Amino acid sequence: MTTMLTCDALVRRYGRTRALDGVDLSLDSGAPVALVGPNGAGKTTLFSVLCGYVRPTSGSVTVLGHKPGSAALRGQLGALPQDAELAPRRSIGAQIEDFGRLQGMSRGQARAERERVLDVVDLADVARQLPDSLSHGMRKRVALAQALIGSPRLILLDEPTAGVDPPNVRIIHGLIREMAGDIDFLISSHNLDELERLTERVVYLDQGQVSSRGAVAVADMAGDTEAQGRLTITLDVVDADVHDRVAAAVTGLANVTGCRVAPRGDLVADVLSEDAAAAEVIGWCAGNGVRWRRVSRGRTLEERLYEA
Ligand code: ADP
Repeated sequence: MTTMLTCDALVRRYGRTRALDGVDLSLDSGAPVALVGPNGAGKTTLFSVLCGYVRPTSGSVTVLGHKPGSAALRGQLGALPQDAELAPRRSIGAQIEDFGRLQGMSRGQARAERERVLDVVDLADVARQLPDSLSHGMRKRVALAQALIGSPRLILLDEPTAGVDPPNVRIIHGLIREMAGDIDFLISSHNLDELERLTERVVYLDQGQVSSRGAVAVADMAGDTEAQGRLTITLDVVDADVHDRVAAAVTGLANVTGCRVAPRGDLVADVLSEDAAAAEVIGWCAGNGVRWRRVSRGRTLEERLYEA
């Protein structure tokens, strides 16, 4: 198994702020990894260090066995920065080619690469257009195409779907899932629902350090340590009274032993049989005109991270 990245006592300081405060991390190639943590935890700084944009103050870091920013990583590491901006007056295709040229490709290679990566994100027909003519979601897909240049082995995605409309979110998620067999992904996102669908490993950063929270949540998920079944029900309404009323009704269903409202409004039910209880919950909602968005087995990643 190859090593995706390592950080050893990694510190990055900005003046007095220790954005990274002794990060120890070792990740092997494989399933996509989620990078989570509150604002200011150091996620963007870690990405910047891994990309070679920012130097560590102390400690060491390797990406695919090499020092960040080293020539050996050219074409091996792709990144979609959170605020990836495209130049307004240059066509999409020309800009993709520019990135290829920056990686040392010949003009011909860069042109072929432009066609390949725009094709992957299904935007081959916008190559001649200017960025402003595209929606935010399409521009994110262009940024993803840019991250694919050179067939990288590892791609860092910083908030890949922030502010993106649902159809483009679906396309971006589909692409990541499709490529995840061949490419390693490290994905930073505040959307835990998204991370739960895309990733199997979680790194939780807090105040510049790796917290055990992420590993505990993943172990919990893998070992399924729950003694009895659990359902998480997400309703279509944001109304605490409705949540309480539904939780009370769900508690009374034959296959449910208890139901509470989690801090962010999901209903979490302890159940005897997940399948039978799910059918009961869905039936009750239908009979009582309550719209639900999602009924899922077990606990969500959000609960595992924040309600351990
Ligand atoms: P996150 O991406 O998890 O929100 P950041 O890596 O952006 O966290 O920031 C971590 C800490 O470092 C924050 O306290 C932030 O204010 C500080 N920081 C980040 N970048 C800079 C910078 N260029 N100059 C000064 N402080 C910075």
